[in-house]
Amino acid sequence: MAKKQDKCSFCGRTASEVRLLISGVDGFICEDCAAQAYTIVQESFNSNSKPSSREFKWKNLPKPTDIKAYLDQYIIGQDDAKRFISVAVYNHYKRLGQETGDDGVEIEKSNVIMVGPTGTGKTLIARTIAKLLKVPFTIVDATVFTEAGYVGEDVESILSRLLQVADYNLEATQRGIVFIDEIDKIARKTDNPSITRDVSGEGVQQGLLKLLEGTVVNVPPKGGRKHPDQEYTQVDTHNILFICGGAFDGIERKIAQRLNTHVVGYNSVQNVARIDRSNLMKYIQPQDLKSFGLIPEIIGRLPVLTYLDPLDRKALRAILTEPKNSLIRQQQKLFSMDGIELTFDEDALEYIVDKAVDFKLGARGLRSIVESIMISPQYELPATGTKKFRITRDYAKQQVEKANFAA
Ligand code: ADP
Repeated sequence: MAKKQDKCSFCGRTASEVRLLISGVDGFICEDCAAQAYTIVQESFNSNSKPSSREFKWKNLPKPTDIKAYLDQYIIGQDDAKRFISVAVYNHYKRLGQETGDDGVEIEKSNVIMVGPTGTGKTLIARTIAKLLKVPFTIVDATVFTEAGYVGEDVESILSRLLQVADYNLEATQRGIVFIDEIDKIARKTDNPSITRDVSGEGVQQGLLKLLEGTVVNVPPKGGRKHPDQEYTQVDTHNILFICGGAFDGIERKIAQRLNTHVVGYNSVQNVARIDRSNLMKYIQPQDLKSFGLIPEIIGRLPVLTYLDPLDRKALRAILTEPKNSLIRQQQKLFSMDGIELTFDEDALEYIVDKAVDFKLGARGLRSIVESIMISPQYELPATGTKKFRITRDYAKQQVEKANFAA
């Protein structure tokens, strides 16, 4: 206990001048100085917690096979996409760690483009990668560029979001990952610019080019430009990894056309025989993106091209229960917090899959169906002291029908 004449060893005020004087082995500290010390400690931790260049030495990074194994825990199927992404991400970070020696070899950026139907895991892959690498991650919809018609503003807002998730740590922001969704929506309507000047699509793509390639963008301070005297943050996008995704509806036709026109001669006839017509997407090539309406410059800046398979019944069934944070596991966790053991009959799960197939929303449909089944029990059970709850097919069906899902 401090006596009246004891003084804070930091500010010199006596015990009677402060509310609290904490004694140490050899001195005292008052509440104000303690609070200030705490702030200093926090600030110093924050600046130390900035991912240092050392932390990002590529040698410390998981290897492509490790990245893929990690993705496997969360994403069902999509093996090709997961392999491509694992390598692209690994190379990207190797590039960050490259020594600028005098060998003249400079590794270029490996932005990625994923083509595949909606709800098949494009965003999930990008998000999971960001989680593994512990880098800031943000999702942006390419269609916002079209609406604004003026790219500068939007580019700022993407980067300002990235800054925000990075807690305004510039160094971390500049190593982040941006997922640009619906990139197909900014495609030019025709492959031939001289026939239809679809300026908006092309203009938007031009605007994106610089961002993808690497440029310095002035990002307004927190909360926009309310205070003119606040400094802009200059964000360099050279080391930001861009992953683009799009459904590219109808691109199979372009692929088929290309495959058909390129087959001449006996060998080619044999190759055609080997083509899996049921899934043309796996033959996708950069020129198909061009036929779809992406300008060659954009395609050139998205060198890693991969595709996602449509999810069949088997995949949808697996997605329900297998991923580490599968929908069913999440529901079980929610109920277990109320001391309720939740189980699903196999045919109830099959029913959910049937409905998802009807909805044609990929795995996205699963979530809304599960939610509609679980809303009543989530509402009623916590107050009843129930210990076990079993979802049968009939129960699932009844709940879905009650929710008026038009299938
Ligand atoms: P999109 O391809 O349209 O970007 P998303 O990645 O957003 O689709 O998928 C929507 C949701 O569906 C995800 O959050 C996830 O729960 C589920 N999902 C989709 N594809 C898969 C998959 N291959 N494995 C596991 N879950 C998936």
